[in-house]
Amino acid sequence: MIEIDNVHKSFGQLEVVKGVSMTVSKGEVVSVIGGSGSGKSTLLMCINGLEPIQKGAIRVDGTDVHAPGIDLNKLRQRIGIVFQQWNAFPHLTVLENVMLAPRKVLGKGKAEAEEIAVRQLSHVGLREKINVFPGKLSGGQQQRMAIARALAMSPDYMLFDEVTSALDPQLVGEVLDTLRMLSDEGMTMILVTHEIRFARDVSDRVAFFRNGVIHEIGTPEQVIGSPQRPETVEFLKSTH
Ligand code: ADP
Ligand code: MG
Repeated sequence: MIEIDNVHKSFGQLEVVKGVSMTVSKGEVVSVIGGSGSGKSTLLMCINGLEPIQKGAIRVDGTDVHAPGIDLNKLRQRIGIVFQQWNAFPHLTVLENVMLAPRKVLGKGKAEAEEIAVRQLSHVGLREKINVFPGKLSGGQQQRMAIARALAMSPDYMLFDEVTSALDPQLVGEVLDTLRMLSDEGMTMILVTHEIRFARDVSDRVAFFRNGVIHEIGTPEQVIGSPQRPETVEFLKSTH
């Protein structure tokens, strides 16, 4: 379980997360929607310890992410994160790219790392592409490779930050299908997305971010289907 407890985060004088609290239980899919600059990406970075926080706490299965002396590498093995774009190593094949972290971070031998990478690449539908170079992949395939790379660490949680927003429209579906598959498999996920229809479909809960706070949170039926606050209504209108 991920417990976000009254988190405040500033960059210098600029406070961008202003007291966010939210709990994500095992197996839950929570989508985070909201306008640009509302603090969505920053919150994800705080959850896996990529950014320090100024106040509050984030606990992952009881471990305080921002406690002094915490083993961040170990924590990050349990929380995969996939961004809008991931620059794979261009001179390594797809397979070699996905093998890297199991080799270097988990210390797996070559054969085992390869087995893990093949399994995860197959899982996201890239079995045929394991020996090509990333530059030969479409944007949708590159994003699926990035997902396979995160899955190769056997994470308990996955964080996705607008993983489809850099894609041509015709490539969005294949990546959303991959996310849906993970959700069906019971992966616990926090999903920052602009794909409102998808969020409605796949999420257990939806959080609408505005100015660094959760302005409205609830089931997709509540937040997207019948939003209670005028700003939520306004935002949803702007996404059509
Ligand atoms: P969102 O993902 O909702 O678009 P972000 O979390 O990326 O929003 O950004 C929230 C605010 O924090 C923005 O005003 C952004 O300019 C600022 N910000 C994000 N990252 C940094 C950084 N590394 N240094 C300074 N300001 C930042
Ligand atoms: Mg963002």
